[in-house]
Amino acid sequence: MKVSGFNMVIKGGLVIDPAIGFGNEADLFIKDGKITKIVKSGEISQRDIAAIPTESIIPAEGKLIAPGFIDMHVHLREPGREDEETIMTGCQAAAAGGYTSVCCMPNTNPAIDNQETVKFVLSRAEHSDARVFVIGAITKALKGEELSEIGDLVKAGAVAISDDGNFVQNPEIMRRALEYARMFDIPIISHAEDKFLCDGGVMNESFESTRLGLKGRPAVGEEIAVLRDIKLCDFTGGRLHIAHVSTVGAVKAIRQAKSEGVNVTAEACPHHFSLTDDEIGKEFNTNLRVNPPIRTQKDVEAIIEGLIDGTIDCISSDHAPHAEEEKDVEFDQAPPGMIGLETTLGLVKMNLIDKGYLSWADAITKMSFNPARILKLPGGTLEIGSPADITIIDAERKWTVRKDNFHSKSKNSPFIGWKLSGRVDCTILGGRIVYKSK
Ligand SMILES: [Zn+2]
Repeated sequence: MKVSGFNMVIKGGLVIDPAIGFGNEADLFIKDGKITKIVKSGEISQRDIAAIPTESIIPAEGKLIAPGFIDMHVHLREPGREDEETIMTGCQAAAAGGYTSVCCMPNTNPAIDNQETVKFVLSRAEHSDARVFVIGAITKALKGEELSEIGDLVKAGAVAISDDGNFVQNPEIMRRALEYARMFDIPIISHAEDKFLCDGGVMNESFESTRLGLKGRPAVGEEIAVLRDIKLCDFTGGRLHIAHVSTVGAVKAIRQAKSEGVNVTAEACPHHFSLTDDEIGKEFNTNLRVNPPIRTQKDVEAIIEGLIDGTIDCISSDHAPHAEEEKDVEFDQAPPGMIGLETTLGLVKMNLIDKGYLSWADAITKMSFNPARILKLPGGTLEIGSPADITIIDAERKWTVRKDNFHSKSKNSPFIGWKLSGRVDCTILGGRIVYKSK
């Protein structure tokens, strides 16, 4: 087979693409930022291969080739907290974690609740190492009181709306938001934690929180919120996406709603299937403080069940950078959140794939294909004609999470020191190498 007219060829990797059902060793050709051809290894003659200039070959023998990961849930902190993360550094962290697209949450300062701020973020992201998609605010300043101009946000480029960090406590406002969002066919992403039930809580409400004397956030606080939003979603015919599912009851509620045909999707984060609340009392590591909180072994098992049976569609990082001095306080004084872009792949590999819960194809579906489908984003597949957003994975490579190696400006990870397996070898964005592991 003759090959010509390409800028780059990724050679000999095992192509994992749930969309095209490819599971073979193949050579992948890229031209002008797009995937132009996938050819099974061996179908190109040695002579033709020899004619390819070596500088345009990316050797990938023994590696996995996946569509670039898409993270639906990232906090980039710009505008407002550029000391914690900027769009540029957040995208560098994304590239190092294998992500070619990230969706940024609107709880910046000012909040992304108007066209100007959407446009500002998109313009700052123009030359970054990942595509940035904006999630606009449901309500002005995320206060839950007055709807944003949702049509304006969509016109400026918002792909979804969310008050992430806050639950839209007023059901009338959530109802109107679902109705408006429906007109633009965008999902509403719900941070489902009832404010009254969770007020002041800093960890899961359990035997552990009582033992440690810390105020808890009960599972029922999440479950009531999930159930209410499902009910409103069903009633309005809107589209609902539940962020960071963390409890047995939340998984059950979403499973039930899906079986009844409600238009709901859901995501889980690595910390909710990798950690339990008994970790907190060991060192009071403030990087373990997150909303919703890390919970119990039973909850971890339910999340994994939900990932296996498709109740949970996506794996998102909820990458939430915080400055060191803000986390260097008493546990209950620390702001919630941990970074995650650079550790998600390793945690998915170690805790889900190595334990036999998910196949690589399942994991990539949840980290790339499904987020693209839910938000109608480009990518998520290696189909011919797709953008050349590609993650090359060194599946068995062991590595240790080190604070100094994070590309993120903030280092607030509870996984520092953990030994993980599975690492990004190379990330390609629109045919351009944006990350190469050392
Ligand atoms: Zn949230």
